[in-house]
Amino acid sequence: MIYNEEYETLPREVLEVLQLKRLKQAVQRVYHTVGFYRHSFDQAGVQPDDIKTLDDLKRFPFTTKQDLRDNYPFGMFAVPMSSVVSLHASSGTTGRSTVVGYTKRDIDTWSELMARSFVAAGLTKNDIIHNAYGYGLFTGGLGAHYGAVRLGASVIPMSGGNTKRQIMILQDFGPTAICCTPSYALNLAEQGKAMGVDMRSLKLRVGVFGAEPWSEKMRQEIENAFGITALNIFGLSEIMGPGVAMECIEGRHGMHVFEDHFLVETINPDTGEILPPGEVGELVFTTITKEAFPLIRYRTRDISRLIPEPCRCGRTFLRMDRVTGRSDDMLIIRGVNVFPSQIEAVLLAIPGVEPHYQLIVDRTGNLDTIEIQVEVGEQIFANADEVKVLQNMERQIVKDIKDYLGVSAKVKLVEPMTLQRFEGKASRVLDKRRI
Ligand code: AMP
Ligand code: ZN
Repeated sequence: MIYNEEYETLPREVLEVLQLKRLKQAVQRVYHTVGFYRHSFDQAGVQPDDIKTLDDLKRFPFTTKQDLRDNYPFGMFAVPMSSVVSLHASSGTTGRSTVVGYTKRDIDTWSELMARSFVAAGLTKNDIIHNAYGYGLFTGGLGAHYGAVRLGASVIPMSGGNTKRQIMILQDFGPTAICCTPSYALNLAEQGKAMGVDMRSLKLRVGVFGAEPWSEKMRQEIENAFGITALNIFGLSEIMGPGVAMECIEGRHGMHVFEDHFLVETINPDTGEILPPGEVGELVFTTITKEAFPLIRYRTRDISRLIPEPCRCGRTFLRMDRVTGRSDDMLIIRGVNVFPSQIEAVLLAIPGVEPHYQLIVDRTGNLDTIEIQVEVGEQIFANADEVKVLQNMERQIVKDIKDYLGVSAKVKLVEPMTLQRFEGKASRVLDKRRI
């Protein structure tokens, strides 16, 4: 089944005509409305009129997360605030996270693309969707919600957490589909088992999982635990939120990028050189219909590859493979994006903490854990109340990390000169997760 047959099955040559028309408009619009683009295009010696074919996009400069941070919070918006109807932010709760805005039409597009995603998963208006993506600044919850409403399905706005209650609702309301992060799905299955619930006898048929990396092995585990078909959905707040690309139930391999709204390229992350379709590299997206927060050649840092072969479902949009990693040091801890530099900033704001730390990321059961080992200054140990001071400091770090970044960390204070020192680039993260 296809939600928007007309667009999702456009012959490639017709799609390309549409893409070129939309790209030209997008590039003109950003050049004339966003100071950042005017400056960056001028510096690169390109003008909106230089777009004569889709191929000309490669002459335009990349946009990076740093550019978004430099223009925090609203500097990249291409419309006045009076046209913005909603705001989201990509990670953390304060500081220079990425703030994105939507016009009414942007929300409309997002709703359609999420509705398309649900239909690609085999859902119809007769389905009941248990939405356990977090509602709030994170795009997952509301994005999936808009899509379910657009489709006409019945959405249960569960949000994340409260796992026992979720199990009850799954039993009582009988949803036929579930969306959440894949690790949370496994967590739900485990909790259900502990409560003596047979998760395979629930009415669930399909799961739409994303927002963090997962593997075929996890797919099998989830499918077995719930007796469902588990599908992959990809998105990022900067580009829109969930629903940038979605796996179809017919192909079950690779996610169709909604190419009538987004152009996708893969590049060599070290050189920026464009790679031929099929080669593994960093994904770069250009939005061609977005109004409030358009992005030209945005470097996602996500590593994947495009699948050029046509899919048996009839959609003509290219597919992208699973995201296998990142070309930067961003971590996703229980769905929250965290950069080591953000943790460092929180640590260094606390008196007595030294700039030597190590982050140990692991997965216990199905929950991500992060331990921060950090050195404290000599003077602490000279203090008569040493133990109390250390305890307070530890508590303070846990609280600040939670308050500023939204993740629960375990903190271990260590004596001066005990953590490893680096001669070149510091490697402060030990990621032990096997997914
Ligand atoms: P956010 O903007 O908070 O939604 O985070 C977006 C990031 O989550 C992406 O850039 C990816 O790194 C990651 N992500 C989203 N969906 C997936 C997926 N299906 N598989 C792997 N990583 C994903
Ligand atoms: Zn397909």
